[in-house]
Order: sequence, then C-alpha cells, then structure tokens
Amino acid sequence: MSEIKVIGFGGQPVIVNTGLFINNAFRLAAGGSELNVENPTTGDRLASVSAAQREDVDAAVAAAQAAFYGSWRTILPSDRGKLLNRLADLIESNADDLASLEALDAGILFGESKALHITQATDTLRYFAGWADKITGQLLSIPQGHAYTRREPVGVCAAIVPWNAPLMITIWKLAPAIAAGNVLIIKTPELAPLYGQKLAALVKEAGFPPGVINIICGLGSVAGQALAEHRDVKKIAFTGSAVVGRQILKASASSNLKKVTLELGGKGPSIVFADADLNNALFWTTTGITANNGQVCAAGSRIYVHASIYDNFLLAFAEKLAKTSHGDPLLSETTKGPVISQRQREKITEYIRYAKESGIRLLAGGEDLPGNGYFVANTAFADVPDDARIMQEEIFGPVASIAKFTSESEVIAKANASEYGLGAAVFTNDVSRAQRVSSALECGQVTVNCWGMLHSNTPFGGVKQSGFGRDMGEEALDGWLTTKTVKYFTLPTE
Ligand code: NAD
Repeated sequence: MSEIKVIGFGGQPVIVNTGLFINNAFRLAAGGSELNVENPTTGDRLASVSAAQREDVDAAVAAAQAAFYGSWRTILPSDRGKLLNRLADLIESNADDLASLEALDAGILFGESKALHITQATDTLRYFAGWADKITGQLLSIPQGHAYTRREPVGVCAAIVPWNAPLMITIWKLAPAIAAGNVLIIKTPELAPLYGQKLAALVKEAGFPPGVINIICGLGSVAGQALAEHRDVKKIAFTGSAVVGRQILKASASSNLKKVTLELGGKGPSIVFADADLNNALFWTTTGITANNGQVCAAGSRIYVHASIYDNFLLAFAEKLAKTSHGDPLLSETTKGPVISQRQREKITEYIRYAKESGIRLLAGGEDLPGNGYFVANTAFADVPDDARIMQEEIFGPVASIAKFTSESEVIAKANASEYGLGAAVFTNDVSRAQRVSSALECGQVTVNCWGMLHSNTPFGGVKQSGFGRDMGEEALDGWLTTKTVKYFTLPTE
C-alpha cells in the first residue's frame, strides 16, 4: 500500500498510509478510487487518499461484524479500558504529527490543534477508559419477583465526522463506543482526512483486535450514504450540517431504523450584561467568533450587548478583532489560518457582501486578505436586525453579528429566537441573573463568563435543530448502549 510524506511542524516529515483501514490492514478502495486533498493555506494539492466505495463500506461492515460476534464480545471490560488508555498515550506521543496533519489539510493552527483538540481527545479517551468496567444496570422489584436491566452494546456502529476539529470529534465517538463494547466504522471527512490515516496506524499499534475500529475516507454522498443506508449498521453518530443530518435520518428510516445521534450546527448567542467584567467578556466574545476562523459549531456568532456599555464594547471589540497575523498554520507566529476550502471562503464572503449591500453597519474587517490560500478577514457587523440573514443563519466563518439590548427578558427572547440551540455564553457578575438566564436559554450548554470550554466529563450536544444525543460525559454512553430487561418470576411453593 502506498505511503505519502508531508512536511509538518518544524520541517519534520510525517508519513501516513493513504489506504482504507479495514481489519487492521490498509487496502486500496474498489477500482483504485481516490480523492484529492488540498492544502487550504496554498490552494495546492497535498495528497490523494483512497476513497471508499459502496463495496468497501460492505467490507468494513463485514469486518466489524466478524469482530463483534467473535472474541470482542468476550473481552474483559477493563481490557477495553486499557486499549483506550493505550491509544491516548500513543496520540499524546504522536501529537506533533497529528497537529501537523490538521494544520496541513484542515488549516487548523498547529498550536491550537495540539493544545486544545489533541489534549481534549486524550482526556476523552481516558475518561471513557474509566467507564469501560463501570457500566451497570438496575435491580427492580416487580409484583411477581424481581427484574434486572443489562446495558448492552448496540453492535456494529458508524461515526461520520466533519473537518473542523476532525480528530477531537472522532474521539468523542470512538471513546464511548468502545468503552460500551461496540465495534466501529469511522468515515473521515473528505476535505481533511489525513489525521484519520495516522490514527488508523495508532489504533493498530495500540493493540485493538482486527475489525474493532475501521477507518475509511470517502465522499459523503458515496461512503457516508452507504453507511447510513446499511442494514447491518445498528447506530450512526453524526456530526455535521443539518442538511446531511436530515439525510441520515431518512436513510435510517428507509433501511433498518438504525439508532441515530446528531450533532449539527449552531448560531450561538453571547450575552454581555452591563455588570460583566468587560475585558473578560471581550476576550471570550472575540475568541468565540475567531477560534478556528469561526468554523466551530458552538461559535458565539450572535453577540448581544447591554445598551449602557454598547458603544464602548464595539470600539474595543473592533480593535481586538483586528489584531491577527494570518498565514501558515504550522508557524507559531500565525494567529489565523485559512478556512477549509475555496467553497467555504465563497460562502462566507457571500454573507459579508449581502450584509454590506443590505446596509448593515460594518464594524470591522470585511476586506479581502492577500495570498493564494483561503483566508477571510475577521469581520463584525453592528446594530444587526433580528431578522437579518447574518443573525439567523450559520455562517461557519469569522463573522460576528452584534446588537444591543436593554432588558433581561428582551435578550432571552432574542437569544431563543433561533432554529438552533447548541451553545450560549452569558457574561455577568450577578449570580442570580446568571442562573435565571442560563435556565431560560434553549440550548445544550451555557458557559458563564467564558465561551466554549470543553471537558470530557460534561455532556455536549444540542436541542432544536442543533440535533439530539450527547458527546462526552456519562450521558454519551446512552447513545452507544441498549437496555435489556430480564424478569424473574418467583414460583409459588408446591
Ligand atoms: P457536512 O454535513 O457537509 O459533512 C459532515 C460529514 O458528513 C462529512 O464526513 C461528509 O462526508 C459526510 N456526508 C456528506 N453527505 C453525506 C450523506 N449524504 N450521507 C452521509 N454522510 C454524508 O458538514 P461539514 O461541512 O463537514 O461540517 C460543517 C457542519 O458541521 C456545520 O454545520 C457545523 O455546525 C457542523 N458541526 C457540528 C458540530 C457539533 O458538535 N454540533 C461540530 C462540528 C461541526
């Protein structure tokens, strides 16, 4: 099988196999199908990797099924935990390679990938390693005797992941799936698959038995669709757009009614009250829309600021937003990488053009950035009307929509007037207000006096059209388990 060498952080070579990882071996896709991977920093072709076809998906599912009905079901739960811990150690010792690959094909800052995404991934593996031998049922009384529940693995599962934090999101699925005793096929994103090629080698090195974790790249419309329609796949965990989430639900409905969990988009509100620590609020609200170029599902893309501090906030926000140095994400001096693709850049700049043409007040950015890569200036609009497209639709780019409010009830209504409900941030020094507003917001998580902040022991996911099911936290296990009830009748004495 072919290997490729790319140049990563510090000029170090990183070598990955380009094949599909099925049954612990790399192989070519049917008909030798490949897809090209671009470097968004330059617009140049970076690599080609095998692109799974429907028959490759069948092979991955068959391998997973053989593993599940073979020895995997009898492996000690604590041994599943050991494998997850070993994978965490290997990811940690290969962090430079993995962060380099995410910088090269996803445009993620090397430092951000290593310090945030990879650390989060290893934390999550270790968190769920601890759960592997602690999954228990209940003992229940019934009039005729007693009953108990067994929490059993679902079986052959699949994970379909996006490109914006590909390793971390993959591990959010892999760790609870394996802790719960399932086998897994991971469909990596076609725009940024190189991390998956490296991860596959680490899965083998960690000692997972063949077929337990299979990693394939391929087009969503081909490999992703084939997984979603497959009758032997019992569960799909999906992170991505709402459009594709709906397609996956339809495919489940028209095939075998597989279990589906969806982590979809967002239009996160950040609410800054007058009593907030202004510097802290500025730090987090700017981070919330510029981290990874706003290509974050929980991005704080709607910013509501109390009228009494609005003008000062806008001045400081615009100043802070402008302080970036765009360029190669592998370099430590770079603070802003490219967005993922030319198509994504066009989509974002189309929103900026629309907002300017609609007469919405441009506060910062909005200009074209030089270079061949797909760079988009950090941009903010102020006094944005509630019904403006940039206040309603997920842009998935570094574009903030800011508006003022005067009362708590008004801002809660504005924040909740969205079809999405993923993350929200509240900035205030008033504890009662923080609690009132947090409970009134319709979303999956609220951060008070900060933004984002992922922890492996806290559930992450959405309500409304941001999806259902949770990654991380004990609750994530629910998505990878089924409950069987066993009832014992006490027979009367003879
Ligand atoms: P996308 O939906 O286009 O693709 C996501 C994955 O789905 C990719 O692997 C793709 O190949 C696959 N796919 C595409 N068509 C498919 C089909 N018909 N059947 C099965 N699979 C298919 O999303 P994207 O552009 O990669 O990512 C951006 C979106 O993801 C944004 O909307 C963002 O908000 C969302 N996202 C959500 C979270 C979260 O946790 N809620 C995290 C990251 C990204």
